[in-house]
Amino acid sequence: MANNTNYEYVNETSIEPEFICIVCSSPFIDPLRTPCHHSFCRRCITKWIFGGNSSCPICRKHIGSINSLAQATHSVKNFVEYLPVKCTLCETTNIRRRDFHEHIEKTCPKVHVSCSAADIKCPWKGTRDQLANHESKCTFEPLRSTLSELINENQQLKERINDQHDTIVQLMIQLSNYTNTSIECNNCRNCFYLEKDNRNTAGYYRAYANSQSTYENDGSLNLIVSVELCTCHCH
Ligand SMILES: [Zn+2]
Ligand SMILES: [Zn+2]
Ligand SMILES: [Zn+2]
Ligand SMILES: [Zn+2]
Ligand SMILES: [Zn+2]
Ligand SMILES: [Zn+2]
Repeated sequence: MANNTNYEYVNETSIEPEFICIVCSSPFIDPLRTPCHHSFCRRCITKWIFGGNSSCPICRKHIGSINSLAQATHSVKNFVEYLPVKCTLCETTNIRRRDFHEHIEKTCPKVHVSCSAADIKCPWKGTRDQLANHESKCTFEPLRSTLSELINENQQLKERINDQHDTIVQLMIQLSNYTNTSIECNNCRNCFYLEKDNRNTAGYYRAYANSQSTYENDGSLNLIVSVELCTCHCH
């Protein structure tokens, strides 16, 4: 049966039935044993029991709960771990199944990997056998210190923008409390109503951070807020 890993068994048809899970028709993965001494993949038997079955898929004896399952015997577990498999990505064959994960993580030439400069935004992706060639001409790695500085600054800038946004929202809440009105417009929620006073005519206003706002050398924000009449015609 198909599995979603990238290997297939060498001579799968010659594997003794005692090492094959009857539920998925493949050699056991992490096998567990029922009280009636039948073994199944952990995943298969767990799914079977959670699916509402309480009897053994082979002999129909009562299993009970998940708690009555035990580890399969060492000989069964070792046998399936040492089964030879073939990598379907690179066609390398006779890898022991238990070493397959390491094959994919460390050596398989056809696995898709990222550049070692992915952390500084090199977008390259390719197979491992193309990696050395890419890294020899990667344009990101030589700029590592500059790029990480830029990325860091960009991150700080984003945080400042968030701070600035919070400040404006706080300010508008204070203003709307001060004028004793709620923010009423559903289309432009940033608007608030101001009564007429000696500076303003009555109406809906919106606040925004003026582009003359500056950052001090210590990184603190010198926020200049402008308030202007809302011109959206929806009030
Ligand atoms: Zn199974
Ligand atoms: Zn059984
Ligand atoms: Zn491979
Ligand atoms: Zn690169
Ligand atoms: Zn509006
Ligand atoms: Zn408005």
